[in-house]
Amino acid sequence: MKYSLHIELADRVRNLPPYLFARIDAMKRKALQEGADLIDLSIGDPDIPTPQHIVEAMKKAVEKPEHHRYPSYEGMQSYRDAVAKWYKRRFNVQLDPDTEVLSLIGSKEGIGHVPLAFVNPGDIVLVPSPGYPVYSIGTLFAGGASYFMPLKEENGFLPDIDAIPEDVARKAKLMFINYPNNPTAATAKEDFFKKVIEFAAKYNIIVCHDAAYSEIYFDNKRPLSFLSVDGAKEVGIEFHSLSKTYCMTGWRIGFAAGNREVIAGLGKIKTNLDSGVFQAIQEAAVVALNTEDSVLSELRKRFQERRDALLEGLQSTPLKAIKPEATFYVWARVPDGYDSTNFVKKMLEKAHVLATPGVGFGDAGEGYVRFALTAELKRIKEAAERIKQIWR
Ligand SMILES: *Cc1c(COP(=O)(O)O)cnc(C)c1O
Repeated sequence: MKYSLHIELADRVRNLPPYLFARIDAMKRKALQEGADLIDLSIGDPDIPTPQHIVEAMKKAVEKPEHHRYPSYEGMQSYRDAVAKWYKRRFNVQLDPDTEVLSLIGSKEGIGHVPLAFVNPGDIVLVPSPGYPVYSIGTLFAGGASYFMPLKEENGFLPDIDAIPEDVARKAKLMFINYPNNPTAATAKEDFFKKVIEFAAKYNIIVCHDAAYSEIYFDNKRPLSFLSVDGAKEVGIEFHSLSKTYCMTGWRIGFAAGNREVIAGLGKIKTNLDSGVFQAIQEAAVVALNTEDSVLSELRKRFQERRDALLEGLQSTPLKAIKPEATFYVWARVPDGYDSTNFVKKMLEKAHVLATPGVGFGDAGEGYVRFALTAELKRIKEAAERIKQIWR
């Protein structure tokens, strides 16, 4: 060898928290190598393909040479118009497609980048625990510090806004919230959002509400948009994704909507980092946003059947599953004497069923496991049956 560089990772990469699912991944690989008939309920990615009419729209769009060039940074006019119309139709929220909507390469991209626009080194970001890891990682990459707001069962898995210390609130620039929630599957009502808005206005904190699961709901209990609450647009934005709603996780398209200054700030970061979303995908996304509700209710029905099967099966076990009104997750308290990781290990070894340990989503997720309803009904029933057998 002629040269030898001393390659050193930047502090922001070295300071990343340990990847908590590494141990689980290793156990999963081992089980598969041993030929186990594994039922994997650990993945938050729909097993159902994208509806055919959206795929057909993409096939046509991809042929058009005008889509082969760089897209606009903020998203095509037709896409932003479709988003605004969808918001009006679904939530009765008025959005200006020119200043209050921004296309994203999946909502993860926007969530990860938004701290870069508003957080200076040393600033605090309020982050739910357990929570989607990108909130705290995006904060870390911007040099900010996460203050974790625990989501407790006795509070319906909503953060206790009154428990945030005054000095923390003063230093906070941004707050992430997420309802319907991953991983707890909890939903929020208007009074909670009102409280958040009051708090944000008092301490000058930008609210980023992640609404990735707003369309995966059960029993006709349609979740609220944060932006539908009075004053929300003055204090924040909402992230949406086509990933979960239309089973389009692989396509990478989402959007941010709401406060125009916040949208502009996030847009500034993106203009300097990426070049927008492939226009053919945006064109297919316009078709997706105009999907007939009957198609979506069919999807919801499938997730609801799976939810009901899992809940029923777990009833006679010491796992305490909480019935979700939305999302495709079931959050369950592990039996006494276990922590989330060793319980997941036990389920994997004894039942060949894989769930996600709650602690992987943050310290306050300890004591719970998350089941994703991303397998066929038959497999979910089989999983529940096998879990029951652990105690026979
Ligand atoms: C899946 C998910 C997202 C992001 O999905 P994208 O595919 O990046 O749009 C965002 N937030 C939560 C809580 C999620 O579970």
